[in-house]
Amino acid sequence: MDLIIGSHVSYKNDTQLLGSVKEAISYGANTFMFYTGAPQNTKRGMIQDEITFQAYQLMREHHMDLENIICHAPYIVNLCNDEKFDFSVSFLKQEIERCEQLGITKLVLHPGSSVGLERNHAISNIIKGLNIILDNNYNVIICLETMAGKGTEVGKSFEELKFIIDHVNNKSRIGVCLDTCHIHDAGYDLNDFDAVLDEFERVIGLSYLKCLHINDSKNEKESHKDRHENIGYGCIGFDNLIHIIYHKKLEKIPKILETPYIEKEYPPYKQEIDMILDKVFNEKLKEEVIDYYQR
Ligand code: FE
Ligand code: FE
Ligand code: ZN
Repeated sequence: MDLIIGSHVSYKNDTQLLGSVKEAISYGANTFMFYTGAPQNTKRGMIQDEITFQAYQLMREHHMDLENIICHAPYIVNLCNDEKFDFSVSFLKQEIERCEQLGITKLVLHPGSSVGLERNHAISNIIKGLNIILDNNYNVIICLETMAGKGTEVGKSFEELKFIIDHVNNKSRIGVCLDTCHIHDAGYDLNDFDAVLDEFERVIGLSYLKCLHINDSKNEKESHKDRHENIGYGCIGFDNLIHIIYHKKLEKIPKILETPYIEKEYPPYKQEIDMILDKVFNEKLKEEVIDYYQR
């Protein structure tokens, strides 16, 4: 399998990276993305190197490359916010140290939401924070995620991300994670993805693209909603997503599914990965997922 594909998986304090690798293998994936704890809080446990080494061993057996594994920072971290700024910076510094200890080189981060602040002030906080966080000799690259523009989210256009990148001193440590649901919801037309990719190349530069989040969207283009849908079941559609997943220029970039569980209970990733490898839309996917886990 040349395609580098996986999904978001869980990370539990007792099984750590080993548990995440096992879950990814159960989906037939060759990469994955995880949070170092619950995505909605910042409680984090100690990393045990013995478990990490077991995870590496299993990854080797399954031809998973550590370079393609993604960590996602919790979404309550917000560098825009004046009051939460010191906390967010110190949390992200520790998150980078955790990634280093695990050997992970890519950390996805939502740029933040400006909420009550003036937009320029919020963006300058993000830049200030990133420059503090990246002022060290670690290897981890922070990948700013393209956002849907829900509420006051920063990062809903390539230009906004480019502005931040331009002001980050340590350019080798900053990148972008492109989320298909988010850019569609932000107003980019995925019926003409080649034009979108050209625009990305022109505005930011393809060398900054480090990760792809592959999701369909429950809503129309430019809806600014950010509600993910299973592959082929939403407004982006199967053919457009397959075109993106198999795009020649994106061959080396890890592709991560963050599509919703079926009936909030059953992970769809094994069946979605099968369908993506088949390149044929499976209109029975949701039923098959339920059958698979109830069997
Ligand atoms: Fe995200
Ligand atoms: Fe995402
Ligand atoms: Zn999203």
